[in-house]
Amino acid sequence: MGLLTVGTPLPWEDSRPHIEHVKRNGVEQLLHVLRAAYERNGDPLMWGDEIEYMLYRFRKAQNDVVLSVEHDGVIEELEEKYGATCAECNVSFHPEYGRYMVEATPRRPYRGLAVAEVERNMAARRHLLGMALAQTEVVPLSTTVFARMGCEDFVDLPEPWAHKNSVSRSLYLPDEIINRHTRFPTLTANIRLRRGEKVCINVPMFKDEHTPAHDDTVYERAWFSQEDRESLPASRPGHIYMDSMGFGMGCSCLQLTFSAPNVTMARYIYDSMVPLSPIMLALSAASPFFKGWLAEHDVRWNVIAGAVDDRTPYERNAVPLLPDGSLYGGIESGKTSETQRLIKSRYSVVDLYLGGNKFFSPELNNVPVAINNTVYNRLLENEIFPVDENLARHFAHLFVRDPLVIFNESLDQYNDSDMGHFENIQSTNWQTVRFKPPTQDATPGNMSVPGWRVEFRPMEVQLNDFENAAFANFVYLLVECMVEFKDDINAYVPMNLVWENMDIAHQRDSVNRRLFYWKNGFSSDIEYDTELYTMDEIFHNKENGLFPQFIDRILRRKGYVKKHWNELINSSGDLPDRRRLYYYLKLVSDRAKGELPTSASYLRHFVVTHPEYARDSRISKRIAHDLMQSSLRITNLDNSADDIIRYFGLEIGSYLLENGL
Ligand code: ADP
Ligand code: MG
Ligand code: MG
Ligand code: MG
Ligand code: MG
Ligand code: MG
Repeated sequence: MGLLTVGTPLPWEDSRPHIEHVKRNGVEQLLHVLRAAYERNGDPLMWGDEIEYMLYRFRKAQNDVVLSVEHDGVIEELEEKYGATCAECNVSFHPEYGRYMVEATPRRPYRGLAVAEVERNMAARRHLLGMALAQTEVVPLSTTVFARMGCEDFVDLPEPWAHKNSVSRSLYLPDEIINRHTRFPTLTANIRLRRGEKVCINVPMFKDEHTPAHDDTVYERAWFSQEDRESLPASRPGHIYMDSMGFGMGCSCLQLTFSAPNVTMARYIYDSMVPLSPIMLALSAASPFFKGWLAEHDVRWNVIAGAVDDRTPYERNAVPLLPDGSLYGGIESGKTSETQRLIKSRYSVVDLYLGGNKFFSPELNNVPVAINNTVYNRLLENEIFPVDENLARHFAHLFVRDPLVIFNESLDQYNDSDMGHFENIQSTNWQTVRFKPPTQDATPGNMSVPGWRVEFRPMEVQLNDFENAAFANFVYLLVECMVEFKDDINAYVPMNLVWENMDIAHQRDSVNRRLFYWKNGFSSDIEYDTELYTMDEIFHNKENGLFPQFIDRILRRKGYVKKHWNELINSSGDLPDRRRLYYYLKLVSDRAKGELPTSASYLRHFVVTHPEYARDSRISKRIAHDLMQSSLRITNLDNSADDIIRYFGLEIGSYLLENGL
């Protein structure tokens, strides 16, 4: 999660005079990158995943389970005690927003189709993390969200409110859950201060027989004279109300980064991934609950969007929550006339295709998107590297956001070698896909540093490494297919329909109950229409399904099958872990068909069929405890309570129980 600069982060008011400095120099840094790296060509298709874990404490004495912040030193400990082993196993650990979170990645990227290497690497990460925590009651689990995050007794802080919580001012999340590196509390406070109010998230509550009409955990408090009055007007009937950055950035996800041979291909891969994002978000759904309530949604995305939404009421085209509130939030008084309406949070679905290929036409970018005109004009006309309109628009859109954390020591940078100011803007524009430019030393001759990369960010993290490896390999094959058949695959869908799909993807069990906009064909030379399809059709239709059009096609090209991916079940052939790949693909296919539950469906079903569930949408401590025990068994492939067969079905479940890595 971003860069952990050492130094003194400026509080919001002190950072304001430097905002334009950061933007102005950020653009210059970008221009130097473009000049240095635009002609680079020939990078191999390398890639890597990121998995975020939550540390859970299964407390024997209390017979319960809570998030654990007490082991936030585990990353340093891993480095000190097991540094050499981590390097040998090709894994790295990184801090994340929550003190109870750890991110882990392969240290060096995979090269090409990696199949079970991905899962082995994931297993090594879990093993090392588990080893460092062996003497404790704490276990790392890759859950997207903890069901009781923000409820009473959800974390192992002895006195959660001992320091009150001046950073987030939340009614529910103590500041002590935030990573103690100064960047994170400052980011939290500065989002709130720029917005001028606490962040505000309302997720539709799942309505059961005895569900109350209101989230009855909302109350007025008297610690902070403004923020404590905001919650009652901010919370909506029939919704789960959340009021802090941690509810969003405290969720986990599965991200994948791919290198492209050159910038044109990076743009093409980026654009082709945009329509895939809502589809893969829906299929990986793993968040049916928030703050102790079952939700009518199944995914985390909009919660994070709300959790980091630093827009002022004016920018959101809204009225302040309180009669004495300000339309312009924390914007400097002389600057209010320069602000513009921003229709989405800085955490959101992609807004603009990048273009730069024969399939693109400007009408595909058919949604209204604000841009920073100064940045746009500078990118188009400059003496360093004039940029084409579509790429300029993308970056000029990122620059409508202000830098949120500026470090005093990093104000002065060398624009022809540093990237800090650019990264400041780039790394706090969180969209479903990220276009990652290289650094200024990534010249065509210097292939030892990474080149142009694209990051696929929508997916929810799954409990078990097999599932995460399945999603990773599936998306990898889509990307390899795009690269291999770039002249024949036109994946563009008008942007407004991608936005609509994003809303559809949030709905409970959207995989089985909703239709998504999808093209009726991908081949290059014919114009195709977009229609509504089931998820099953989107994955399996002969003419326009992901399996026939992408997966089968690339596997045939590679010579691994004659016709269909399901030939991989036959163990002949020179692809290592060929059968494992079959089961990865089968998992994705069976979930898309609705024959296997998504994570979210499984977790939701567990709650509503629990003996203690009172048909009131509430997740009690007992239910959460049993749910986490089941999650632990799924993680460890422990079928003692039959979870593995229920979760993976008989065929994949039996395969997993009989075939270790
Ligand atoms: P961020 O948090 O900025 O998205 P991370 O460093 O946490 O970035 O993760 C990036 C992922 O990209 C990791 O899985 C890493 O192995 C992978 N990666 C590193 N170098 C390359 C490269 N040259 N091409 C593709 N992927 C890479
Ligand atoms: Mg992360
Ligand atoms: Mg990362
Ligand atoms: Mg990051
Ligand atoms: Mg990432
Ligand atoms: Mg946006």
